[in-house]
Amino acid sequence: MIARRIATVLPSFCRHEALEATRVHSVAGLLAEKDGPLLAQRPFRAPHHSCSVAGLVGGGTLPRPGEVSLAHNGVLFLDELPEFTRASLEALRQPLEDGHVTIVRAKHAVSFPARFMLVASMNPCPCGYAGSELRTCTCGEKEAYRYRSRLSGPLLDRFDVVVRVAAVAADAVLHSSPGEPSSAIARRVEQAREHQRQRYASPDSGKLAFRCNAQLDARGLKQHIALDSATKTLLTDYAELHQLSARAMVRACKVARTIADLGESTEVEVSHLAEALSLLGHHHFN
Ligand SMILES: [Zn+2]
Repeated sequence: MIARRIATVLPSFCRHEALEATRVHSVAGLLAEKDGPLLAQRPFRAPHHSCSVAGLVGGGTLPRPGEVSLAHNGVLFLDELPEFTRASLEALRQPLEDGHVTIVRAKHAVSFPARFMLVASMNPCPCGYAGSELRTCTCGEKEAYRYRSRLSGPLLDRFDVVVRVAAVAADAVLHSSPGEPSSAIARRVEQAREHQRQRYASPDSGKLAFRCNAQLDARGLKQHIALDSATKTLLTDYAELHQLSARAMVRACKVARTIADLGESTEVEVSHLAEALSLLGHHHFN
């Protein structure tokens, strides 16, 4: 439910992003009359786990963009992640890393953009009740482990945020008060993106070196995310204690920057980094 609401809090679509996304949809023959000349909203794609590798990342004799490209500048939601085939999951790694997919044929190669936010959900075990207070898990240690190990370490290492959501009792669903409306959250997201736009705009041309924190490369990270000594110490100590990969450390810095932006803070403080580290999720899979 939460994953599907993400579409309602996404930052607005700038013209350039809309153009890129529209082009992919047009190539795939998916531009409907009602869409007008430009897609008005960021795409939200939710392919079923039976989707083929080619359907997911693109392919075919006459190469067509896959779901990762149709989700360009938007969201790719994979429900029940471990149910996707191993080949599909591993095929996600290239686009996640490079932001595009290259399909090589005998006489030519085609490249499609594929820069998307990956959102996925899974159960803690096949029956879904491991760690739950509502019911007892019937899977057994071994089966639960086998289920989780369908996701490779390198794939998990590409998720910035992993949150465990406790099962909710039926009466709690009916009697809970409505939370914060999407519109209020969307305003905070928009504000945080505005801080990023200002940070990454070139002073001369106004052109964006990066569109958001997630897109920072090594140089951008050095230039734009300055950690004071206390924050640096927290990062290195935590990384050593939990044997974090270099990739995980970079992710934590970017997420901390985003948390700081959401909190209207110009500096990344210890509390922002601490929160980012708690969201890495490495502890859920050990
Ligand atoms: Zn179970």
